[in-house]
Amino acid sequence: MSVQVVAAKMAEVELKDVPTGKDLPAGSPITPTSEGKSLGRNDPHEAGSSAAASPTAEPSKAGEGSLGLLNTNPAKMPQASALKRTDPQLNGGEAFINRDGTVAEAPRMKKIQFADQKQEFTKRPSKIGRRSLSRSISQSSTDSYSSAASYTDSSDDETSPRDKQQKNSKGNGDFCIKNIKQADFGRREIEIAEQEMPALMALRKRAQGEKPLAGAKVVGCTHITAQTAVLMETLSALGAQCRWAACNIYSTQNEVAAALAEGGFSVFAWKGESEDDFWWCIDRCVNVEGWQPNMILDDGGDLTHWIYKKYPNMFKKIKGIVEESVTGVHRLYQLSKAGKLCVPAMNVNDSVTKQKFDNLYCCRESILDGLKRTTDVMFGGKQVVVCGYGEVGKGCCAALKAMGSIVYVTEIDPICALQACMDGFRLVKLNEVIRQVDIVITCTGNKNVVVREYLDRMKNGCIVCNMGHSNTEIDVASLRTPELTWERVRSQVDHVIWPDGKRIVLLAEGRLLNLSCSTVPTFVLSITATTQALALIELYNAPEGRYKQDVYLLPKKMDEYVASLHLPTFDAHLTELSDEQAKYLGLNKNGPFKPNYYRY
Ligand code: NAD
Repeated sequence: MSVQVVAAKMAEVELKDVPTGKDLPAGSPITPTSEGKSLGRNDPHEAGSSAAASPTAEPSKAGEGSLGLLNTNPAKMPQASALKRTDPQLNGGEAFINRDGTVAEAPRMKKIQFADQKQEFTKRPSKIGRRSLSRSISQSSTDSYSSAASYTDSSDDETSPRDKQQKNSKGNGDFCIKNIKQADFGRREIEIAEQEMPALMALRKRAQGEKPLAGAKVVGCTHITAQTAVLMETLSALGAQCRWAACNIYSTQNEVAAALAEGGFSVFAWKGESEDDFWWCIDRCVNVEGWQPNMILDDGGDLTHWIYKKYPNMFKKIKGIVEESVTGVHRLYQLSKAGKLCVPAMNVNDSVTKQKFDNLYCCRESILDGLKRTTDVMFGGKQVVVCGYGEVGKGCCAALKAMGSIVYVTEIDPICALQACMDGFRLVKLNEVIRQVDIVITCTGNKNVVVREYLDRMKNGCIVCNMGHSNTEIDVASLRTPELTWERVRSQVDHVIWPDGKRIVLLAEGRLLNLSCSTVPTFVLSITATTQALALIELYNAPEGRYKQDVYLLPKKMDEYVASLHLPTFDAHLTELSDEQAKYLGLNKNGPFKPNYYRY
């Protein structure tokens, strides 16, 4: 179906000319300079990958615009947004925020490792087995916790959902969740999330009968939370059928899964899955008689991997993959590099709207929450050192400064260091302030930023936490020595006690603070979810040949479009270029407004 029709219905925001593949001039290279920032984000581990951006994954010019809701203007389109990466270094992990309300820790640099997954799911793991999960599933599948799932029931019902026969009120039993009776509760959670996800709601409204995803059979593997539910119901409103599993064994909000099942979605997920459950759920999504997916929406790459391993023939019908996570994107680039990627894939992770909003604004909002919930600390007048002044560090510093903390910054990069100075922070070396600070926060994406030597020198009661890179930034392992005593004083809060009685307060064992101990703003997740929905629409509707078997970034205009959809929330009034101004700047009046190398 032509989705151009829908564009005409857009009343609130004029959003013409968002590019589709047809508008992307073939052969327009994405140079490292044009996209490197977006990919690498100054992260030393990824420098190689962004520098290796290659123009090889150009969408063809053939075909008509497919992206729903958008008009196009071929004359002024930006270059294609396809990139290839070389292998990043394989020695670490990365934190990333998922679109569902949680933050996940992903082994960005970790060598991707899969179990030789069994396809028989007869074994029921013992309780102990469930606790001691093997590491064969992706790290993001196990390491991220959803604080958004905090309402999830803690009922005593120990029966595995796999052993239950449940049906929704319409008699449909094609799902496997904890407890269908929680559906009403879950529905309320979804309705609350809807209020903070304006763009998805706008997509539903603006589509008004148009179904750009009619015929789409989307199999998804993401965190299953209220925010995901809003996305799934939007996809459904746009015409898609969805089957869904969780990308994380801890993060499912059971009541939301129940509401989805009650609403007719085939959901296979519950909080506290075993590894065996995890793969079983994914398998139930794809291995179903009379239904075959034609689109994949993945977060972490496990679903994609499963289909590759177990049902490679399915790729004959699959039109594309939309991947959200750093890890999953890395896997896709690996597949692409090995010539094994057999369908086009969209890298949502590296779109500007995700990078900028997830890292900066999300951390600005969640750092205080995480610290407060765990320690009840007062911020005013406290001395805090923030290591790293990239997007995450900037967000943390801004929040702490606003609360009256005295903030020091450490940096290795003179540009970011100068930014810190100009923003009014004292740039120091960690060893200069380590004895006096009350709070240490790492945000570098690096490893061993806070090592034992510094931990030894901290003052009594110093709070130590990480907002950056998985669990590598603080050398927690160095604290597991016989002379130090560990006391778990609260969930996610350890006191590590020195022989002289000094204690430091270690949060989340050095893992991501906001991942483990706070929630993430739904509005930020709305931005990512909208990008995912648009990527699905684009890939699904793209005529054959537009996208090759490679990994693509979303065009800048699509980023601009996602942002535009969120502006009405603020009653924001965007200025329009006059013809004269547009000519003067050499821009199309409807965008894109910045070149790809613009850094925002
Ligand atoms: P960034 O590259 O913009 O910033 C990191 C900064 O740290 C850079 O300026 C770099 O020069 C600096 N740095 C590196 N090593 C350092 C060291 N030893 N000492 C001091 N400074 C050092 O990256 P970002 O977008 O700010 O992300 C940082 C990390 O946070 C990444 O690992 C990212 O995955 C993670 N992240 C976390 C969240 C969250 O919710 N907690 C959200 C997004 C990203």
